[in-house]
Amino acid sequence: MTEKTIYELSQPGRKGFTFPASDVPSSPLPKGFEREAVNLPELSELDVIRHFTNLSHLNHSVDGGFYPLGSCTMKYNPKINEVASRLPGFSQTHPLQPITSVQGNLYLMYQLQEWIQEISGFHKVSLTPAAGAHGELVGALIIKKYHEDNNETQRVKILIPDSAHGTNPATSSMSGFVVVPLPSDERGNVDLDALKSNCDETLAGLMLTNPNTLGLFDENVVEVIEMVHTAGGLVYGDGANLNALLGILRPGDVGFDIMHFNLHKTFSTPHGGGGPGSGPVGVSESLAEYLPGPIVTILDEGDEENPPFYGLYMPEKSIGRMKAFFGHFGVLVKAFTYIAMHGPDGLRDIGVKAVLNANYLMEKVKKDYFLPYDRICMHEFVVEGTWKDVPSVHALDISKRLIDYGFHPPTNYFPLIVHEALMVEPTETESKQTLDAFAAAMKAIAQEARENPELLTKAPHTAPIRRTDEVKAARDLVLCCWTPEIL
Ligand SMILES: *Cc1c(COP(=O)(O)O)cnc(C)c1O
Repeated sequence: MTEKTIYELSQPGRKGFTFPASDVPSSPLPKGFEREAVNLPELSELDVIRHFTNLSHLNHSVDGGFYPLGSCTMKYNPKINEVASRLPGFSQTHPLQPITSVQGNLYLMYQLQEWIQEISGFHKVSLTPAAGAHGELVGALIIKKYHEDNNETQRVKILIPDSAHGTNPATSSMSGFVVVPLPSDERGNVDLDALKSNCDETLAGLMLTNPNTLGLFDENVVEVIEMVHTAGGLVYGDGANLNALLGILRPGDVGFDIMHFNLHKTFSTPHGGGGPGSGPVGVSESLAEYLPGPIVTILDEGDEENPPFYGLYMPEKSIGRMKAFFGHFGVLVKAFTYIAMHGPDGLRDIGVKAVLNANYLMEKVKKDYFLPYDRICMHEFVVEGTWKDVPSVHALDISKRLIDYGFHPPTNYFPLIVHEALMVEPTETESKQTLDAFAAAMKAIAQEARENPELLTKAPHTAPIRRTDEVKAARDLVLCCWTPEIL
């Protein structure tokens, strides 16, 4: 990396700001806190702005280029969301304020609960979980408590399809369940025979992602849910892929009992880099009293002169609190803004266009890459990033080469059931021109693989850094290269 650190750019005596002459007596700083003692870099305002602006350009971003990272729904985040969440009435309130002074905030949360209920078909929603995985943990804990209340503690088994996101088995296992993987059939649906053989009195529930992480809608979803219900189990829906269904299908209507919604995916909030996200959970009527709280409710309906008065409650058999206060309120404001801006027809349009974009791109890409489940996809699709005639090239090499073409790589090596998986999710916010450019890059890379495979195996060639040890990069974070000498 050629970028200099802000210390290397420092020039003695250069200043970013000059205070006006003091009109009060000066008082010395405590020893160790003087400018000389803390060794701060000396730069002009322009130096600082250029330094950080240039640094920010070293990373790929949704605002900078196409980001087809499958399952993450890296759609464009409208800037109006940011404006709304920074309004002082939202950003300057404190969670310990009396509810009489935050009625606007409570109204926003109440309305968002109602909208998510309407969009998803669930009876009641709690906004508090911090992300999708956190919502799954809520779901698993609700399933546990529900069976305990029915004196069915022998129900210890949660079924999870082999295409599932790793957080599904992780949260089930954290909640004390035994995780049983379910194979997929040749069309990418849950294998019904395997499901049937697991439908017994030890079944606590099934965690199902639909559309699943192959980007495929499970064609037997109604039958699958019925089988689990008949066996006495509950069905948790991993709602990370709700984007594809917006305005078209309400998961609550087809029998899912519990589901989380990744507001930072479907309802557009910046994500990546660890948060903050938001993973509200919806449940059917019979599970409403198990939700985590607090939940916003109307305490007084009001009348023609007085607006409704909002308050909070904890459901009777609640699994408890999952988060301090009310969850990530700033994210809730962004999701509210996004839903309000689009309205019902706009939301449906999002679902339709996300599916159209994915199918358009899939048809182009499958000419050069093997598509193991060749049927109409939903919002994303998975191809193999490898060819029999070029054994030296792997999915990772194709991804790294895409960086040279200015694109963020697709998701690699997930789902696990596709060999050398490349999972592409274009989202509805990309234009035909962008999709065509990406397809052209994929085609060019397939040709390069035959002509000069080293171009791929040594890629990226143009990025600020070359290949990193990704495990080490995630485990050994260096977030600060400087500590004040006085500490
Ligand atoms: C993103 C994702 C999750 C986890 O959601 P987070 O908000 O990242 O915790 C779970 N399942 C699927 C299918 C996902 O894509």
